[in-house]
Amino acid sequence: MGQSSPRPVEKTLLTISDEVYIRPEPLGVVLIIGAWNYPWAVTLKPLVGAIAAGNAAVIKPSEISSHSAKLMEDLLPLYLDKDLYPVVTGGVTETQELLKQRFDHIFYTGNCTVGKLVMQAAAQHLTPVSLELGGKSPCFIDKNCDLNVACRRITWGKFVNCGQTCIAPDYILCEASIQSRVVEEIRKCIKEFYTEDPKTFKDYGRIVNQRHFRRVVALMEGSTVALGGDRDESQCYIAPTVLKDVTGTSTVMTEEIFGPVLPIITVSGLDEAIGFINEREKPLVVYVFSHDKKLIRRVITETSSGALLANDCLVHATVSALPFGGVGNSGMGCYQGRHGFDRLSHLRSCLIKKLNMEAVNSMRYPPHTAKKMGWHASRTRAKWPPLSPSPPL
Ligand code: NAD
Repeated sequence: MGQSSPRPVEKTLLTISDEVYIRPEPLGVVLIIGAWNYPWAVTLKPLVGAIAAGNAAVIKPSEISSHSAKLMEDLLPLYLDKDLYPVVTGGVTETQELLKQRFDHIFYTGNCTVGKLVMQAAAQHLTPVSLELGGKSPCFIDKNCDLNVACRRITWGKFVNCGQTCIAPDYILCEASIQSRVVEEIRKCIKEFYTEDPKTFKDYGRIVNQRHFRRVVALMEGSTVALGGDRDESQCYIAPTVLKDVTGTSTVMTEEIFGPVLPIITVSGLDEAIGFINEREKPLVVYVFSHDKKLIRRVITETSSGALLANDCLVHATVSALPFGGVGNSGMGCYQGRHGFDRLSHLRSCLIKKLNMEAVNSMRYPPHTAKKMGWHASRTRAKWPPLSPSPPL
């Protein structure tokens, strides 16, 4: 059965001879506003969901990844009906102009500040929104875990795409006793992945523009550099960097880093780490590295985030059966696979009765005689659902 087929639901005594199902229906026209860091994925994946659910869509790629935006504008009309799926390029002005129009859903990927503007604009038309935002995803490392493997996975997850990944681990939480070993393991991994000189190595990226370069550099202000720290504004290059002995009030902890800078904050143990996470906005991901299943379970039950990934980085986003999205400040609404289909559908409840068997309904019609009421009471005692419930308000 395809996703768009009617989905029969469980029948009760009341609906035994009826058709009862959920019918996914298109919402209408979806506005998709993409971000620059993975310009194809964050723009085309929601589009796949929109098309599968039968919607038309206006596609607005990020102006910051201008080459991808141009390519999208050139290529999509070759493969898709350009009236049903137009690409609108441009920056803030064009997006704001689009936001004045009435859509049936707005699917936005980007930062929280603009997310609020999108929601405000949507409110004018009571348009539902999906907000795929970011935030500071913490990464707790248990002192008893295999630090070599943990740091390899963290180094990869943090420095891929130069740290410009919404689900990258933003900072590490660990006990002070392992801080220097964590730094040492990450040093080895950076060398192995990007050589002694990442600046000249082809597989190491750059910050997207000078505005973001200056923003990331400013975030390092006042912290102790344990690894890296080199930078070159002319190339928007920032070396893979680790900061040590960072505290919750350091500058680097004031916003999502979204760059190749990894602060380490030392805590006394799991309790303090969980407290630290819960004092802050709900992140897109909570990462935990440990052999101890009980410890992992505690992190799952005592924190909240868009996703929880234990003993690896980023890969949960590749599992299309898992919904992808945030909670609280990291966003609302999820997508990927059938979740994207459902998100961009209206799940219409359908109940098709027949006009016969009217005698069954006599119980719900007034007058509410003692005989009818007595019959209800006996059904309730028997733990059956009443045949004629009061209409819900
Ligand atoms: P961005 O600057 O490309 O902005 C995103 C979109 O918003 C663009 O299309 C842009 O034209 C539009 N925009 C910008 N300012 C606007 C305004 N004032 N009014 C209306 N529209 C405006 O991208 P960004 O915000 O720098 O993206 C980075 C953020 O996105 C990070 O926080 C990152 O974590 C998050 N992100 C989240 C996901 C996810 O799936 N949850 C994926 C990628 C990025």
